[in-house]
Amino acid sequence: MHVWKFGGTSVGKPERMRSIRNLITEDNTRKVVVLSALSGSTNALLAIGESLKASNDDDANAKIDALKAHYDTFVADLYATEAGKAAGQQVIDSEFSFIRSLVGIKPFTLKQEKELVAEGELLSTQLFQAYLAEEGVPSALLPALEFMRIDADNEPEIKFTEETLAEMLPAHDDKQIIVTQGFICRNPRGEVDNLKRGGSDYTASLIGGAIRADEIQIWTDIDGMHNNDPRIVKNTFPVRELTFDEAAELAYFGAKILHPSTITPARMFGVPVRLKNTMEPAAPGTLIADRTSSEVFKAIAAKDGITALYIHSTRMLNAYGFLRRIFEIFEKYKTPVDMLATSEVSVSVTIDNTDRIQEISDELSTFCTLEEPDHDQTIICIVGNFSADNEGVALKVFNAMQNIPIRMISYGGTESNLSLLIHGKYKADALNALNDGLFAR
Ligand code: ADP
Ligand code: ASP
Ligand code: MG
Repeated sequence: MHVWKFGGTSVGKPERMRSIRNLITEDNTRKVVVLSALSGSTNALLAIGESLKASNDDDANAKIDALKAHYDTFVADLYATEAGKAAGQQVIDSEFSFIRSLVGIKPFTLKQEKELVAEGELLSTQLFQAYLAEEGVPSALLPALEFMRIDADNEPEIKFTEETLAEMLPAHDDKQIIVTQGFICRNPRGEVDNLKRGGSDYTASLIGGAIRADEIQIWTDIDGMHNNDPRIVKNTFPVRELTFDEAAELAYFGAKILHPSTITPARMFGVPVRLKNTMEPAAPGTLIADRTSSEVFKAIAAKDGITALYIHSTRMLNAYGFLRRIFEIFEKYKTPVDMLATSEVSVSVTIDNTDRIQEISDELSTFCTLEEPDHDQTIICIVGNFSADNEGVALKVFNAMQNIPIRMISYGGTESNLSLLIHGKYKADALNALNDGLFAR
């Protein structure tokens, strides 16, 4: 079985939904089809939530009207038959009556906001399923809220997904296509929750791992993982093959084509991930699996919003146990450290989640001196084959970066990554300079 995920732009227009219907039925492979919300819907729902939080009900109602009008037009175009249009309209009426019921609830809490934002995927999947029914494609809609769950640390419970899907799927053995929602899940309180922005990729990989799929395909609006951020750099090109490790690093360090955690479940269960372009289905895209090609430099990504902390020991030189004490504090406050640089008496680390920075700083201050942290930093992550035999890697990187101030460097943690910390204002310059220096063709 395959798991195919289609992102917002891939389902955002009626003609796109129609082309997806053709894509998923071109061969006889059984597929779990994971859908995102129609493009723009998640942002529109969040904007409605902002109005409701501010108790601006008129504003919220106007935004709900506009969003509903968008869906009305979508349904009028998508379906060919009167029965199809009626089925689609019923989906919209029922979901929008729920959305409307949130207006006036005071205070409007995070719980309601999450129920609201889940509507995007609930709408897209039901509309698509009704379309498949109209087209006579044997298919079923499996509610993600029944098999996707996160724990108290917001980590997906893949064992639960595996067991629940093993119970649910046999009832649909006669169906070629199983449709489900990306992004949404339940939390330990049983409330509706989600896997954070862009989370449908993660859903697809979690399902792919849980059912030991033959392949996971992520269908989007570009032909695979490019060697650099195409929104910032001209002349980027698709990378045809990546290992799980390489892809995981690019996703974690900002390549927006994949949710940061997407690769973890696929890697855990050895399920290959193929990135494909809905607008150009014949293009090969990118295959993420165990094997790698031999280029030295493969791709670059950048992660913004990073904070650097500078920590000095107040104790004697060579005090062992110093690093352990520091990292215990980050562990206690569940704050991952991304980059690290050490000297005899000091250590610099970067974090992207600053929710607990005050508590972390307070505890560190009991045995360390802290310099003022630097905010608005960016990690530039360069991925490739950097084994010790490949000479000149650092030289090429530093040559390309000669006009850009570098604050931290991390090299040698793996053979596939070299990371640099710079101020965020140099990001575009750095990505372009590295593109010219490392990928000039
Ligand atoms: P979807 O809605 O299908 O999930 P996204 O917008 O989340 O699509 O991801 C696809 C976009 O990611 C592309 O249109 C591209 O602009 C952006 N992107 C950023 N970095 C990369 C990269 N290295 N390779 C490919 N796309 C990238
Ligand atoms: N619809 C959600 C978002 O916009 C999830 C996704 O598209 O992957 O973030
Ligand atoms: Mg996405």
